[in-house]
Amino acid sequence: MPSGSFFNRKENTMKLLFLGTGAAGSCNIAECDLPADRRRCASLLVDGTALVDVSRQSFDYLTKLGGDPSAVTDIFLSHSHGDHFCRDAFYQYVEAAKHKIRFWCHRGALEHLKLTEAELEKIDLHPVEACDTWETAGMKVTALPANHVVGELTSPEKPLHYIFEKDGKRFYYGCDGGWYTAIEWEYMLRNKITFDAVLMDSTVGEDAGNFRIGTHNNYAMQKILILALRQNGMITDETLLVATHVAKSCHSNERPLEEVFGEMGMTLAFDGREIEL
Ligand SMILES: [Zn+2]
Ligand SMILES: [Zn+2]
Repeated sequence: MPSGSFFNRKENTMKLLFLGTGAAGSCNIAECDLPADRRRCASLLVDGTALVDVSRQSFDYLTKLGGDPSAVTDIFLSHSHGDHFCRDAFYQYVEAAKHKIRFWCHRGALEHLKLTEAELEKIDLHPVEACDTWETAGMKVTALPANHVVGELTSPEKPLHYIFEKDGKRFYYGCDGGWYTAIEWEYMLRNKITFDAVLMDSTVGEDAGNFRIGTHNNYAMQKILILALRQNGMITDETLLVATHVAKSCHSNERPLEEVFGEMGMTLAFDGREIEL
């Protein structure tokens, strides 16, 4: 178990447990024990009950950390890429849960997920659209349109970012997606949203001309985004800026990533890290 006890959440805090902080590179590894230099696929546990993205290794890794996967009541899907949704892991949570798990995903993701009737009976399905806001798991949740694409360019699935709010704390989950979409940015601007934490797609690294520019961030983009977030009141000196969804193959190993992201005012997520807001 990481430092502190995850399930003894203090009042008026949100506790985030990173179960996977990598990109697609570990999709084919079923075991939760990875070499020290590898990151598990994207999964984040909020206050022990809400899982954001359900990666292949997350259930076994949470169990290994001493957590209780059966306490998960809600799963939020950003999009159906294989490093964010693993069918087997999804059903590990569904089978372990004490009640039907509430599953929140973009309406168009259902075409890719292809859940069977029998599978649908086991979950409490909630398809959502970008800019929807709702309450669940003790949180207010807002889905925003991400700059990302799944499958064909005509796919009905529109990847989502999320804003989670609870007990006066608010954080942004922005994986996957490069930059912001116009609607996402305007939503945050017009609603004068300030975050306690921003979890930012940090896939690409120093390759400023990388072809992923439309769907993932590189360092140059992140520096601009942080500047714009600060200048428009969305982050303050107290906001925790977290680099996550780090693709091992895209970052050079010349300098420790903690140092590189530290210079941007960011802290680097790693598998098993806990953050309390
Ligand atoms: Zn991804
Ligand atoms: Zn993706």
